[in-house]
Amino acid sequence: MALFGKKDKYIRINPNRSLKKTVEREAPEVPDELFAKCPSCKHMIYQKDLGIAKICPACSYNFRISAQERLAITVDEGTFDELFTGLETKDPLKFPQYAEKLALAREKTGLDEAVLTGKALIRGQKVALAIMDSNFIMASMGTVVGEKLTRLFELAIAEKLPVVIFTASGGARMQEGIMSLMQMAKISAAVKRHSNAGLFYLTVLTDPTTGGVTASFAMEGDIILAEPQALIGFAGRRVIETTVREDLPEDFQRAEFLLDHGFVDAIVKRTELADVIADLVKFHGGAR
Ligand SMILES: [Zn+2]
Repeated sequence: MALFGKKDKYIRINPNRSLKKTVEREAPEVPDELFAKCPSCKHMIYQKDLGIAKICPACSYNFRISAQERLAITVDEGTFDELFTGLETKDPLKFPQYAEKLALAREKTGLDEAVLTGKALIRGQKVALAIMDSNFIMASMGTVVGEKLTRLFELAIAEKLPVVIFTASGGARMQEGIMSLMQMAKISAAVKRHSNAGLFYLTVLTDPTTGGVTASFAMEGDIILAEPQALIGFAGRRVIETTVREDLPEDFQRAEFLLDHGFVDAIVKRTELADVIADLVKFHGGAR
């Protein structure tokens, strides 16, 4: 399976830590509050009114959801086969408190890393699927995220599958320094090989997709979808304003602004995403 040269020497495999049962676990605990405040329109919303898709009834903002919640509203029930679990970073810089931070994120989310990878059916269409979870250290991209995504593309090439990725990220994982930046090239090379094999790659940009993830595989999809009002960008707004010395428009770096400027192909409501993904996969030949 090593289509892309030597395996990453910054990763170890811990056979005792297979989290194959992630999906069967209970979803991470959500604070049991009666109301939620919409980050977009600031309305107070009765939790029940958010529904399973967690959409603001006042302004249609799509609340951030966990990988497990995304899985539940996206794939055909019982079809998700989780792959590439049990990888752990070797903490190459021995960054202070990084190990504790990882342990806490694992406990909080029930995930072993910031991305969930596997195979699934979406409305009957077989896909290689990845879902990033912003509750896990802001879904930052370290060596394990890079390795899991690269393996997903390698598997998709071997089994002639389309790849669907729900992106969300604060960018590269600073605790792994340069090694995290190298994941951009590593995953991009895998994307290219998958493309050369004539296979379809779809990305769905969710709130927030930023930094090194935007600067690599998030924007390399054959088709790029986004959720309404998702924040999508590379550098932060303030950094850009200071650099170009201009005031930026209100909706700068929002999905709607990116659609207007040609960076996104379509904005799709969360409740319609599974149908749209399945149609696009089918239209592009599906699994071969
Ligand atoms: Zn709202």
